[in-house]
Amino acid sequence: MNRIIYNPEQDEMAEEKKKCWETIQDQVKKCILCPLHKERNCTVFGEGPRNADLMFVGEGPGADEDREGIPFIGRAGQLLTKIMEAADISRDQVFITNVVKCRPPNNRVPMIEEMMACSSYLEAQIAIINPRIIVCLGSTPTKWFLKSTEGISKIRGKWFSWRGIDLMPMFHPSYLLRNQSRKPGSPKDLTWQDIKEVKDRLEQRASV
Ligand code: SF4
Repeated sequence: MNRIIYNPEQDEMAEEKKKCWETIQDQVKKCILCPLHKERNCTVFGEGPRNADLMFVGEGPGADEDREGIPFIGRAGQLLTKIMEAADISRDQVFITNVVKCRPPNNRVPMIEEMMACSSYLEAQIAIINPRIIVCLGSTPTKWFLKSTEGISKIRGKWFSWRGIDLMPMFHPSYLLRNQSRKPGSPKDLTWQDIKEVKDRLEQRASV
């Protein structure tokens, strides 16, 4: 059976979803729920279509993202775009965001309290987008979703089900920038295998 193409005009909830989306965007922009608001230049809500089949979730904005208000535009983001394109996934079709919407100082890992304070925004984004697949970039989003203490090296490339959505952890692109080898079994090689798996699963899920 062919997949029904989403048409916002035929979605009775489209107007409602649009209003919710705008409300969350506005709330994030003004948010002071955790101390990360103190040093931010911009909040980074996320980028991509509101009905994306594929969602990437990273840890938090870096310096470039904090300056521009757009996720994954620095060196790691450019690498992520290349990885997607190599697997024939257009960045325009993907919604990209982070667990926390404000930059942690010096790119430190967000604290548990900060992640908890920010959780409702990510939850709401997922509820509205309702993606078929979520890719967690690195250990922070993986822990957020799976509550797992397993290291990213062990857990990456495996499929999980999160509230009925297929979910795969992958290495964060900034880790790949620090590990440039392309030898078999290297992080880059494994990531290439993972993104191909994601592309295959995306095609399978789109055809049902
Ligand atoms: S990180 Fe999230 S909870 Fe904290 S201030 Fe920014 S938007 Fe609010």
